[in-house]
Amino acid sequence: MKNKLSVAVLGATGSVGQKFVELLSSHPWFQISEVAASDRSVGKPYAEATNWNMASPLDSKIAKLTVKKCEPNLDSKIIFSGLDAKVAGEIESEFANSGYTVISNARNHRFDKNVPLVIPEVNPEHLALIHQQEWSGAIITNPNCSTIGLTLALKPIFDNFGIESLNVVTMQAISGGGYPGIPSMDILDNVVPFIGGEEVKLEMEPKKILGEIRENEIKYAEFKISAQCNRVPVLDGHLECVQLKLKNKVTPEEVKRVLREFKGLPQKLKLPTAPENPIIYFEEDNYPQPRIHRNLGRGMSVSIGRLRKDSLFDIKFVVLSHNTIRGAAGGTILIAELLKEQGFLGN
Ligand code: NAP
Repeated sequence: MKNKLSVAVLGATGSVGQKFVELLSSHPWFQISEVAASDRSVGKPYAEATNWNMASPLDSKIAKLTVKKCEPNLDSKIIFSGLDAKVAGEIESEFANSGYTVISNARNHRFDKNVPLVIPEVNPEHLALIHQQEWSGAIITNPNCSTIGLTLALKPIFDNFGIESLNVVTMQAISGGGYPGIPSMDILDNVVPFIGGEEVKLEMEPKKILGEIRENEIKYAEFKISAQCNRVPVLDGHLECVQLKLKNKVTPEEVKRVLREFKGLPQKLKLPTAPENPIIYFEEDNYPQPRIHRNLGRGMSVSIGRLRKDSLFDIKFVVLSHNTIRGAAGGTILIAELLKEQGFLGN
């Protein structure tokens, strides 16, 4: 694309914000023109305001950008938000009220009636809700990082066999808690069996995402979810052990087949951030593992393995996803690509 679309990143100095900067510095359609964060960072060059800890070097142009306030007087009309949830709700509403299109990682607007909660391969049709929003701009939300891996795995199973109930136990990476995150003395040689607010998100969000639009609103999918969330000493990559009761009884081999064959609209449209395979299935007994598989599909593929019969439910399996790429910045960029391709961002 000759003229790239200008975008701004709110919360650009944080864990998700840095991942936005890393992924967008070589994006074919979008170009970061502005970065914004808290008063602690405002006025400083981006390189000084952030503690850059991405693997690739910081883009020299973005390094020099002066960090702005998170106020709706930015030039870019497309806003990626990696804001702390303590402040995201109000700031994102102000931007939407002023005509900006905000694509957010924060939880605040995820359950607003007309705000789509989107995984592009799972529920692209929910984007139509934007037309019913009262803001002159729009807000679109990206789900919680654990929800994304889980719901991508559920989608082909839900569509083909129906789901009655599910139990999920997560082992979540440290980067999921933002930078600098949990103190090293609390997490090294340890597992913390509590992540504030996480279980509720995991028990609610998949039902909205797998819901159907009827009479201009989302009717939530009807199945029960029980979640237990743990923080483990892994840097990136959330692993989740899932047990499922299905509506239609099928063999593990049939379930593996629909997982392997699954593709979504981003693959059909060949969107730049879409992985060729949204789901990669492994037959090895000890796969998937965070360190080995989190970067598959440039961090956008979800890895699944150990699918077998369960003696309490019907089947069980393990799913792994990269929490700051597929679970945050990468997922949000894929939403923006879909919005652009479907004409929601103008020409
Ligand atoms: P983080 O590392 O703590 O970064 C938070 C960002 O918000 C920083 O840029 C910070 O700027 C900014 N900020 C804080 N207070 C502000 C204020 N009063 N005004 C303006 N900016 C303010 O958090 P994170 O992990 O990147 O998470 C960002 C959001 O994404 C959260 O809502 C989180 O729940 C969500 N999320 C995170 C993940 C993940 O894997 N980490 C996954 C999915 C969703 P300063 O540096 O200037 O303080």
